[in-house]
Amino acid sequence: MLKGKLALITGASRGIGAAIAHRLAAMGMDIAAVARDIEPARALCRKLQEQYSVRAVAYSCDVASFQGTKELVRTVQRELGTPWILVNNAGITRDGLVAMMGEEAFDAVLDTNLKGAFNMIRHCAPGFLRAKGGCILNIGSVSGLMGNPGQCNYAASKAGLVGLTKSVARELAPRGVRCNLVAPGYIQSDMTKEIPEAVLGNIPLGRMGSPQDVAEAAAYLATATYVTGAVLTVDGGISM
Ligand code: NAP
Repeated sequence: MLKGKLALITGASRGIGAAIAHRLAAMGMDIAAVARDIEPARALCRKLQEQYSVRAVAYSCDVASFQGTKELVRTVQRELGTPWILVNNAGITRDGLVAMMGEEAFDAVLDTNLKGAFNMIRHCAPGFLRAKGGCILNIGSVSGLMGNPGQCNYAASKAGLVGLTKSVARELAPRGVRCNLVAPGYIQSDMTKEIPEAVLGNIPLGRMGSPQDVAEAAAYLATATYVTGAVLTVDGGISM
């Protein structure tokens, strides 16, 4: 069903994005892998080509840039074709207490996590509409559903993604385009290297998740043709 179609994945060079790239390539999808630093994305693409015999090309882009993402989508369309799946996974944290947080930390997180997803959807939407199909997958966070002390910027960006997801899902559903969100809990990656042991005690399943756990949810939503506007938590039960 997805074989030979194109997945455009932001933040694909490591962690959850790389696991999603592997999972979708294993289903036969071609991959456009986006990150700011292109070398790790190129290394990933070489692996995907060898392991799954798919087309995989790395692109350097800062998703926070409206113009940069416009040029990225144009280049991808010219080189690989119109994406069938857009995965908005690129994300950053700049944690701090609200009473001490600088403007730059708030803006940087909102610009990457929320505006970055808008930028990509904005520039990919005309292709989806022309194709009368496709799917958008936003990577949120349980922080956006529950809040988290020290993460007002991050939680606000991820909560914003829920509203973006549902609005885009409603707007594009009549044209056959779906939009869903995966909300991971604590997942092993560079982003969570410094999570205190005590936090893990709050997870009902008693452990952190793996990037592959999130990739499985992404693969499900990529193929679930009657699911749109959904928020799927992958969190070991922490948000229930
Ligand atoms: P990660 O290991 O830090 O990877 C982040 C990826 O995003 C990298 O490929 C990074 O590459 C890219 N990126 C960051 N800023 C970017 C920008 N402005 N433009 C383009 N690419 C950018 O993070 P992760 O843990 O895999 O997280 C992936 C997503 O899952 C994020 O949205 C995160 O918020 C979400 N999430 C993670 C967890 C967790 O526990 N790990 C939990 C909930 C949600 P460059 O630095 O080279 O650009």
